[in-house]
Amino acid sequence: MLKDADRIFTNLYGLEDPFLEGARKRGDWDGTKKILELGREKIIESVKESGLRGRGGAGFSTGMKWSFMPKEASERPHYLVINADEGEPGTCKDREIMRHDPMKLVEGALIASFAMGAHAAYCYVRGEFYRETENLQRAVDEAYEAGLIGDDACGSGYKFDFYIHRGMGAYICGEESALIESLEGKKGQPRSKPPFPANVGLYGCPTTVNNVESIAVVPEIMRRGHEWFAGLGKPNNTGTKLFIISGHVNTPCAVEEEMGIGLKELLEKHAGGVRGGWDNLKAIIPGGASVPLLTKKQCEDVTMDFDSLREARSGLGTAAVMVMDQSTDVIRAITRLSAFYKHESCGQCTPCREGTGWMWRMMERICAGNAAIEEIDMLEEVTRQIEGHTICALGDAAAWPIQGLIRAFRGEMEERLGGAAKSTEAA
Ligand code: SF4
Repeated sequence: MLKDADRIFTNLYGLEDPFLEGARKRGDWDGTKKILELGREKIIESVKESGLRGRGGAGFSTGMKWSFMPKEASERPHYLVINADEGEPGTCKDREIMRHDPMKLVEGALIASFAMGAHAAYCYVRGEFYRETENLQRAVDEAYEAGLIGDDACGSGYKFDFYIHRGMGAYICGEESALIESLEGKKGQPRSKPPFPANVGLYGCPTTVNNVESIAVVPEIMRRGHEWFAGLGKPNNTGTKLFIISGHVNTPCAVEEEMGIGLKELLEKHAGGVRGGWDNLKAIIPGGASVPLLTKKQCEDVTMDFDSLREARSGLGTAAVMVMDQSTDVIRAITRLSAFYKHESCGQCTPCREGTGWMWRMMERICAGNAAIEEIDMLEEVTRQIEGHTICALGDAAAWPIQGLIRAFRGEMEERLGGAAKSTEAA
């Protein structure tokens, strides 16, 4: 269990002043100029050494991503774009950072931008986060006023500006290239890659897109040392992580914990356990709506990190843990997610545009018991036709929950369709 002294987000619950005065008391903006004086290479190296992997879902090394940016300045400016769109169902961690600890994000943005030679950062905030945007804007204004950012950020001579942009509620704008399109004032549709944003990003210039949490932890890594961060968690899955626990638990919450904590331990220590006790558990979606669910048996000993959850054929994703007890109609739950992905498909590529609707309609029929048992295999086949055949990951995100359902609850689906019931775990 994470020690209090190792917590990064010490105002996660908003019990103290979120703004400059309170943030300074918590250690933010302490020695930032000295961090910048280390130079670009050293900062990138430290972030790499810390083992920090992107907290937005993909889990790619943050330091490595930064190192893809051109080393030399050219006539094309560099940009940092912060993804605060947070549209993944069940996910609400970045919201807590912007609400209660926004200075960590602003300071992190300065350090990250400096490391990549960017003089401007754009933070793309989910439109519904109105109050969060207000808090972040106030933090930015205070940082400008105190000379922490602006023409001479922290007295370092480095010019750095921070802009906030509010999105308009499309899930797909959380995809980095769709987000860039949207920032440019266009329709939020993902771009084909390559070229990748580090070469051709915002306004055609080198750009790195990072999640809010990934940026907000950087100042502490630089202050306490990459060894400290790398010493937390598990090898290749280091540091602390914000987990959001919702659904059928006694006390749903957002909590910072060490990477690699056991899922059962996480729920019992922080969320009061499963409603009605552990034996009342049916399934858990461990990383936001787009990852396959886990059965109770898998939940017994899986740990919450990128590698363990991938081995369990699921994913850490955004670390949004959604708990379903025995009262849940799990087929209905996944059907609801299918409706979501159908609604949010941008329509650009055929397998996703047509396939998400197809999957949703089949799921509705199966849910209502109005399909032939063979259609379960047909549905699985449709998910395979979509997975990996689209421009962006929304196609995969729509296919995986259904694949997970068929893998874990085929017996229940067959039973719904009038077939012989098989044991869920055996299936
Ligand atoms: Fe759009 Fe779906 Fe294709 Fe992504 S996969 S680009 S959301 S149609």
